[in-house]
Amino acid sequence: MSLHQITSCPICHSTGLKNSRRIKDYSISKETFTIQVCIQCGFNITNPRPADADLGKYYHSEDYVSHSSTKKGLINSLYHRVQKVNLRSKYRKVKKHVPRGTWADFGAGTGAFLSYTKSQNEEAIGFEPEKNARDLAKQNGVEIRPLKEFSNHKEPLACITLWHVLEHVADLNEQLKEFHTKLQTDGILAIAVPNHHAFDSKYYKEYWAALDVPRHLWHFTEQDVISLLKNNGFTHIKTYPMVFDSYYISMLSEKYKNGSALFGTIIGALSNVYARLSSYPYSSQIYIFKK
Ligand SMILES: [Zn+2]
Repeated sequence: MSLHQITSCPICHSTGLKNSRRIKDYSISKETFTIQVCIQCGFNITNPRPADADLGKYYHSEDYVSHSSTKKGLINSLYHRVQKVNLRSKYRKVKKHVPRGTWADFGAGTGAFLSYTKSQNEEAIGFEPEKNARDLAKQNGVEIRPLKEFSNHKEPLACITLWHVLEHVADLNEQLKEFHTKLQTDGILAIAVPNHHAFDSKYYKEYWAALDVPRHLWHFTEQDVISLLKNNGFTHIKTYPMVFDSYYISMLSEKYKNGSALFGTIIGALSNVYARLSSYPYSSQIYIFKK
């Protein structure tokens, strides 16, 4: 495996990156990766990370639920059931801010959100790099385009959504600049990412499933997301909680530490209670930005 080393922070451009934690990839490779922290702004980075050519093999597993639709096991079946309620909640939060026009789901996976937006009579398109995911979507009657077609897309977009996608994007600034040019003047960018300041992250530490190295190249806090997007010309207008994510992440974290899924649901609930009543953020949040 060849590794690629990032030499400066994509948010503040400092070259002061120091080793912080060693984290195991529990879900696929069982290899261990280093998370570095920027000494200037505090951004957490999986560094070094597999080179682009090697990243693909870290995604290829039946266990990687976001890209599969298998209904085996308690966690998977719960994930898919909750997903339906979750889709409606995500759509409604974004919809409030989106002007008339086309929605694009970037990193559409197997097309769950895309088909939900279509069912709400939105004009919607989706892009996804993984061929397996696109093929699965097609079997379910949803057409998803390869990611490279996004660059050639001409018609200005009213909205671009990234559901747990930005943490996988290798060149953050380049990608955000492209989103900026693809949006119409009043267009909206909606970004959902985990927040490692959340209670469940502090509780599970190195077992926290949303670290998901080496697939997650970046580990965001709310401040990281807002600074990064501001640097790329976006204005932050709203942050929403994703209350279902803490349950899924906590149950998966319990699996990694050979704990109990049921206890995971308690930590998941507690994470939401802390976020509601104290200064902890939610396990995952949706950030709405205006061009
Ligand atoms: Zn930095």
